[in-house]
Amino acid sequence: MIIMKFGGTSVQDGPAISRVVEIVRDRLDRRPVVVVSALSKITDLLYKICDEAAARHTEAALEAIAALKKRHLDLAEELLTGTEFLDEAYNKVGLLCQELEAFVHAVCIVGDLTPKSRARIISRGEVLSSTIICYTLNARGVRTNLVDAKKLIITDNDYLKGEPDKAAIQAAAPAEIEKAFRNVQAVITQGFVSSTADGETTVLGRGGSDYTASLLGMALGAEEVQIWTDVDGVMTADPRVVEHPVTMREIAFEEAAEMAHFGAKVLHPMTIEPAVRLGIPIYVLDSTHPDRKGTGIFGAERIPDGIKSVSSKENIQVINIFSAKMLGVSGFLARVFGVFSAHKVAVDMISTSEATISVTVDGNVDTTAVVRELSEFAEVTVDRDKAQVSVIGKNLHAEADLFSALSKAIGKRGIHMISQGATFINLSVVVDRDICRDTVRQIHQYLFENHA
Ligand code: ADP
Ligand code: ASP
Ligand code: MG
Repeated sequence: MIIMKFGGTSVQDGPAISRVVEIVRDRLDRRPVVVVSALSKITDLLYKICDEAAARHTEAALEAIAALKKRHLDLAEELLTGTEFLDEAYNKVGLLCQELEAFVHAVCIVGDLTPKSRARIISRGEVLSSTIICYTLNARGVRTNLVDAKKLIITDNDYLKGEPDKAAIQAAAPAEIEKAFRNVQAVITQGFVSSTADGETTVLGRGGSDYTASLLGMALGAEEVQIWTDVDGVMTADPRVVEHPVTMREIAFEEAAEMAHFGAKVLHPMTIEPAVRLGIPIYVLDSTHPDRKGTGIFGAERIPDGIKSVSSKENIQVINIFSAKMLGVSGFLARVFGVFSAHKVAVDMISTSEATISVTVDGNVDTTAVVRELSEFAEVTVDRDKAQVSVIGKNLHAEADLFSALSKAIGKRGIHMISQGATFINLSVVVDRDICRDTVRQIHQYLFENHA
């Protein structure tokens, strides 16, 4: 069995879905479980619909739903006209949109949007895309069953960023998938969508379809997990930032995890973890060029040392915590991190000096409550509009060029923080946000483009 996940751009329109059908058809002998994202931009639109509904902008919310409905109905028509499935698919898609409309309308009237309701709204994109793609596979002769991801991926009740319950997934998914495979050649389900143990809809957080794929890979003991996207694998830098990044043919699980965690959007940060448990290889592949090799992500034994990539997080804040008592009083660090943990604020980088602890946090996270509580026992300042640039690779400490490349790239512009992980897999610096992209480009140039 293999898991094949197709992202938003890979299912964005008729030609893209037609390519997906052929890619799946070519792999039917491997019993594919297909995981799909919403059509590109649809999840963004659903978030916007939520905001409009919460603000009781009924007209704007309904207008956006009308556009969403039209895009999906047009797509069903484009893919299924002339087949026996058109009417059924058209009615089903229409019904799914009507339910959404009725729900959003009710929210507009009440003007109160709970996280539970938000999850129900934003999960609809994957429900719609998987429905259309399932009909299309069948219409083109690939016998396929659709399984509701809520029966497979069980989470806690953090509705918008559900924490998967791996034991529950392991208990539920294999039997559901086996049942779904009766009399068909492929099974399809929604990425991103999940459910609490008592059946309330949750979602796995933005970009979470990759995570769905690897959780299923783990639960089903899949041979491999394929992440089909719009680029030819994992590259030395984000192709939207750097002009000539190069695809890496093979990287280690740890390198991929670190890259994803430090800003490389190509994989959801949690994707690697379930796969590592069983050593299931992950391939990142280009759905517009299925013949290309993409990137294989494997156990570190077979991966050479060296610098693999530069990634960045463009909007971060640095929280500096000063206390003269820091070193003297045992438990100070525990107290500081206890505050972050109590407020569920995730910390990325940490550095300390005699009387200061500096940590970085995603710039979009509201840290007001954390700062207030820390201020009860320390002096606290927050620096905003910073960015984190990370160089990732196995055994970086052996890389003589690394520090000179960093200092040449940043020059006199200044580093606010620096940190290197104990496993020598990540060296990160914090710089001003306005030089982030240029810093990435320059580091990439020094490290990967002929050391110019
Ligand atoms: P999908 O919709 O298929 O999940 P995403 O947009 O989430 O696709 O991820 C693919 C994008 O990730 C690429 O288009 C690319 O711009 C971006 N990206 C960022 N860093 C990297 C990297 N190091 N290698 C490849 N792609 C990257
Ligand atoms: N559709 C969701 C998002 O845009 C999940 C995903 O595509 O991975 O965040
Ligand atoms: Mg993605």
